[in-house]
Amino acid sequence: MPDWKDKIRCSFCHKKSTDVSKVIAGPGVHICDECIGLCNSILEEERLVASTAPRLPMWETMSAEQILEHLPKIAAVQAQVDDNLRDWVAHLRTKDVSWERIGASLGMTRQSAWERFKSET
Ligand SMILES: [Zn+2]
Repeated sequence: MPDWKDKIRCSFCHKKSTDVSKVIAGPGVHICDECIGLCNSILEEERLVASTAPRLPMWETMSAEQILEHLPKIAAVQAQVDDNLRDWVAHLRTKDVSWERIGASLGMTRQSAWERFKSET
């Protein structure tokens, strides 16, 4: 089993946790100190120009080519979140938590939870 630190990546820049100083965990996602620094710069910049207009969704200002380049990044985050969810569920199973309770927590049936998260080994 690989060390968890090798597995965890920043959900924003996709750097490994071992390649940055600090990674902070959210629900199924992570952010590194470098991306937090970038976020702070953006927030500070927006404070200076007193911009109140939200810039979301991002695709509003993107070309089709830029959106196509962005898609694999979203897919990588989705894979990371799925992987993380799988680890959390696997940990619950080591605590003998039933598939019924896991399914209920995720708003799915016992059967669906088992099919999605059963160990592949
Ligand atoms: Zn990052």
